[in-house]
Parts: sequence; C-alpha cells; structure tokens
Amino acid sequence: MPTKDYYKILGVEKTATADEIKSAYRRLAKQYHPDLHPGDNAAAEKFKEVNEAYSVVGDPDKRGKYDRGEMDMGAGGAGFNPFGGGAGGFTATGFDDIFDMFSDAFGFGGKTRRRSSQAAVGSDITYQIELTFMESILGCTKPITFSRLEKCPTCHGTGAKDEAHLKTCDKCGGSGQVRHVQNTIFGQQITVGACDKCGGTGKIVTETCKACGGKGVITKNKVINVTIPAGVENGSVLQLTGEGNAPRSGNGRNGNLLLEFSVKPSALFRREGYNLYVTVPVSYLTAVCGGQIEVPAPDGVFVHNLPEGTSNGETLRFRGKGIRTPRGAVGDLFVTVSVEVPKGITRGQKKALEQFESDNSLKNYSKRRAFLDEIAKTYPQK
Ligand SMILES: [Zn+2]
Ligand SMILES: [Zn+2]
Repeated sequence: MPTKDYYKILGVEKTATADEIKSAYRRLAKQYHPDLHPGDNAAAEKFKEVNEAYSVVGDPDKRGKYDRGEMDMGAGGAGFNPFGGGAGGFTATGFDDIFDMFSDAFGFGGKTRRRSSQAAVGSDITYQIELTFMESILGCTKPITFSRLEKCPTCHGTGAKDEAHLKTCDKCGGSGQVRHVQNTIFGQQITVGACDKCGGTGKIVTETCKACGGKGVITKNKVINVTIPAGVENGSVLQLTGEGNAPRSGNGRNGNLLLEFSVKPSALFRREGYNLYVTVPVSYLTAVCGGQIEVPAPDGVFVHNLPEGTSNGETLRFRGKGIRTPRGAVGDLFVTVSVEVPKGITRGQKKALEQFESDNSLKNYSKRRAFLDEIAKTYPQK
C-alpha cells in the first residue's frame, strides 16, 4: 500500500476532479517553487512532494492504480524526479504542459535571461583544394580564389549612406538591448534582449548605403596564397582563422576559411599515417645476382644496392624516408621487392636458362628443397 497520501499533499478530496487536482497542483507548485525560496530546503522538499503527488494523481492511469493500491511506492516513489539533471537545472520528465508553464514564467536557470554580449561573428567558408599526392606529402603554396563577404568600404559596415543618416536608436538609446518587464504572479520578471527596432546595433539607418544596399557587407573575390604544410591527408581540413565571411550586420569578427583537401591517389605510393609503401619491380637477374634498383621517395629517387638472392615479396625498411611534417613527425619508407618473371623470351634466352638450371642443383633453392623434403615425409614411398 502507498505510504503517502497524495490527495492530502495536494489538499484535495479523493473524489476531486482532474481540473481540481490540476489547479491545486498549480497553486502549490507556485507557492513552493524554489525560485521563490532560494536556499529554503523545506520549501524545496515540499515542492518535490507536491510534484511527486501530482505525477501520480494528475495522471488518470496512475491515479487509478494508486487508488486501487497497485502503485509500487518503493525507492524513488512513483519514479518521478523533476530534478533529474542535478546542477540546479529543471528537467521536465513527462510534464510538458506544467513545465512549459514554469519555463515561461521563470526561464530555465534564472529569472533574468541576458543576451550574450559577444560581438557578431561571420560565417565560415569551406573551400575544396585538390592536391596531387606529392603536393600533399611535401606541402606546397597555392593561390586560391574565392568570394566572401567583406565589410562595405563605403559605409564601413554601418549600412548608412553617411554619418548624417545614422541615428542613435531611440528605443534602446544606442545600447542595442532592451529590458522587458513582465508582471507575473511571481513578481516582476525582467528579460534583456536584442532591441527589435535596431536589430541590436543601437543605430537606425535613415538612408541606406548605395554600395551595399544597406547590408553593411559586399561580396568580394579574394585571392590568397595558401601555404599547405607537408603531410596533409585526403579529407583533412586546414583552418585559416579570420579569412571567412564578415558578419552580415557590418561589424564584428570574420568567420574562418576552412580548406578541405582532396588528395589524388598516387600510382607509386600508398600511405599509412606518415609511412609510405612502394612496390619496386625487380628483374629476375637483379633478384638472383643483386644490383641497383631505383627507389622513389618524397625527396626524389635514390639508388639502392639490392643484395644477391633477394626473394620476391621481401620488404626493406628505410627509416625516416617517409613523410616529414613541419611538426617533426617522421615516417618510414617500406619498399617491397616484386621479382618480375620475364615473359616472351627468345629461344636463345631459353637455352641459356636451361643451361643455368642444369648447372644448378637443388642446393641453391632452400625453400624448394625443404618443400620436397616435406612432400617425401608426408607421402612415404611404399
Ligand atoms: Zn555600404
Ligand atoms: Zn535599438
């Protein structure tokens, strides 16, 4: 059985109508609202209790269960917790209409809402830059052309024809902010917001600037040389602070220019982090006898002496020969040897190879030798 008499808490009869319960709840909730009793724990407790009671008997379904003694009144009561979020914030949990009422009356988080006094900030511009793979790993400087909003040079962002046509706003007195005082049952409620007459600028334009049509900004084509650091990746973004649009209402900070890189893949290199991977096809003779191979690297092609007897698929690692970033990250270069089996050889070349094979016994082929030994072991001759 429930231990709390919710009807008693709300001060109504068990037979009260839904409307009677609702108005009793509203009256009590206002009476004990924490905003009217700062620091008063007893009032806060009472407020909670009233809310809990209403969460049950204010809901026809729950009220029925409560009346029949079917409500589980264990820990957490009926599961109502209007203070769920903690940190002093009210979290409306299924109490939309009632909490709308409160949020209208109080505002979440305080009675006075202040307009942020931050200056206007222009919007960001995203610009796609195509880079070759080598440009991306080495870095480069590129001129880029884009259009952005800039402060109108004729009116200096005011939007007015001249100083004489720029008056101080009579509604806000030039502050750009107005206070709204509302009389509510809780007392006076004061909100501060942007002045609707001047749009928060504090100034009224009586004749607009012809150059910008009163907007305070004009669209301009801009060419800038962008220095792209070494090591940027496909899809990465470089932010150029303050190179974006000017704010539409004239003065304030510019937005940013966001350069998004689209890197074309390389036919030579594959990249993983700052490491580079390259496959070098090697002739049959070079693999067998050793010799010089050309290895592509970020700073050019270098020659490497391949030792004799290098197998297909062997990988060589060159430390520090990968991508180097201005921030000091250094990757490695991994070179995989791909021994190419010659095709379309002449009769004479074939003869020479047969000569080579007949001169060579199995001792030159360690893997083949081991393989044949394994076959012999796996399939013993009867
Ligand atoms: Zn202008
Ligand atoms: Zn104003």
